[in-house]
Amino acid sequence: MTVAESPDRFAPARRATVSTSVAGSWINGAAVATRGDAHRVINPATDSVVAEYALATPADIDAAVTAARTALPGWATATPAERSAVLAKLARLADEHADLLVAEEVSQTGKPVRLASEFDVPGSVDNIDFFAGAARHLEGKATAEYSGDHTSSIRREAVGVVATITPWNYPLQMAVWKVLPALAAGCTVVIKPCELTPLTTLTLARLAGEAGLPDGVFNVVTGLGADVGTALAGHRDVDMVTFTGSTAVGRKVMAAAAVHGHRVQLELGGKAPFVVFDDADLDAAIQGAVAGALINTGQDCTAATRAIVARDLYDDFVVGVGEVMGKVVVGDPQDPDTDLGPLISAAHRDKVAAMVARAPGEGGRIVCGGSAPDLPGSFYRPTLIADVSESSEVYRDEIFGPVLTVRSFTDDDDALRQANDTEYGLAASAWTRDVYRAQRASREIKAGCVWINDHIPIISEMPHGGMGASGFGKDMSDYSLEEYLTIKHVMSDITGVAEKDWHRTVFAKR
Ligand code: NAD
Repeated sequence: MTVAESPDRFAPARRATVSTSVAGSWINGAAVATRGDAHRVINPATDSVVAEYALATPADIDAAVTAARTALPGWATATPAERSAVLAKLARLADEHADLLVAEEVSQTGKPVRLASEFDVPGSVDNIDFFAGAARHLEGKATAEYSGDHTSSIRREAVGVVATITPWNYPLQMAVWKVLPALAAGCTVVIKPCELTPLTTLTLARLAGEAGLPDGVFNVVTGLGADVGTALAGHRDVDMVTFTGSTAVGRKVMAAAAVHGHRVQLELGGKAPFVVFDDADLDAAIQGAVAGALINTGQDCTAATRAIVARDLYDDFVVGVGEVMGKVVVGDPQDPDTDLGPLISAAHRDKVAAMVARAPGEGGRIVCGGSAPDLPGSFYRPTLIADVSESSEVYRDEIFGPVLTVRSFTDDDDALRQANDTEYGLAASAWTRDVYRAQRASREIKAGCVWINDHIPIISEMPHGGMGASGFGKDMSDYSLEEYLTIKHVMSDITGVAEKDWHRTVFAKR
């Protein structure tokens, strides 16, 4: 099927035009042509230049933080209904501009148009809508006379200026997950998107301005991690630093924020186990493993990466996954028939290829894939590696590519031990028709999310976030709103007496 013949819902990436020249920053309600080095957004499917912009400088970061600080009192004291109205308008505008957002996301990441138009963009719109509602639902303990002599009440207040740093794999969704709960809570934001993929974050900020968000509430500075990222994470005048990205960089961000004692929230890497018990629906597990491993070309922190399969099902699982992976269509992300796009860059493709190439030396058996197709761009074939050892690199380290490893287990204790044999703790799935096994797996697997008989779905009402080397704190849901609010206890004397009862514990003689 050519794009011209494709159903209308798959056409948006061709209908909207991506601007080739962009201002890389959005500060105090306006596009700012910063004066740092020139930088290019490259389409990894074609290696062609999508857009050019200038990187932000330290002065731009200061200007963005100052704008956010100046805008804070007004936004933090807007009523929840006023904040909600602006965010609801932003959701409508993002939906109306879905064609542009899809086109930008496809061209800067190389992700298939079907994924961008059915997952990234509608998921982001739904998340914005969710936080428009959540802005009006602040919670705390009931105001009451807990001491008998005082009325105690809880105030929820915005944390303040939030600096946030996001990765390239889901640029729009990651920006929405970080920025929207902060705005709903009354915080102001300076976001640094990944320098490879700033386009949709910049469009989101522009649409927020059109929705009526006051100038300075939502600022974007695009720059390299080593300078702009470091400077933002360690900026004295922010109140909180939130980050989505690799574990190694997340720890640096935390160290930079710790210098000023700033609040931190980290969403980091993952190495999700995919546990198939011997009573599982094998066909469902095979389909689920391929979808869970290959979504976004495997560049997904929750992707299924370690299949751990009952001995009795192991051989059939390996053959089945290999067969389905062999049917996956790799190619032009603009084509609605394409299942798998390129990796984000040639450098990342080479890193994935090198890890796979080392696997046989550590005992792994490459069942399918294991090479790059003969295409321009940063493509890599869907890859299944069976019989991997527990110490092997592909089993232990995050590959962040279209690669699934498989091991077998002997009994349920062994399955759960292997599932937890990782420093990461972001996501996991268990495949079984036995309710007791499902409950045990969901209880004992150490991860922020455990799916039963599925792997990947997310929903705005429920939290996303990890433990261990996968970080801490939540994105999405009311739990993420909590991240951006402080709790203040107000305790008011109701007795009106000068010599209060409790004074006796400090000075007994009156
Ligand atoms: P990365 O850590 O290399 O970069 C993330 C961001 O940090 C980018 O904007 C980058 O410019 C910036 N950065 C780099 N060095 C920095 C520094 N020293 N100080 C401050 N900022 C710096 O990650 P990536 O390659 O862009 O993304 C892939 C990683 O993100 C994977 O590990 C993946 O698992 C993780 N991820 C996690 C989640 C989650 O929710 N847990 C979601 C998406 C991606």
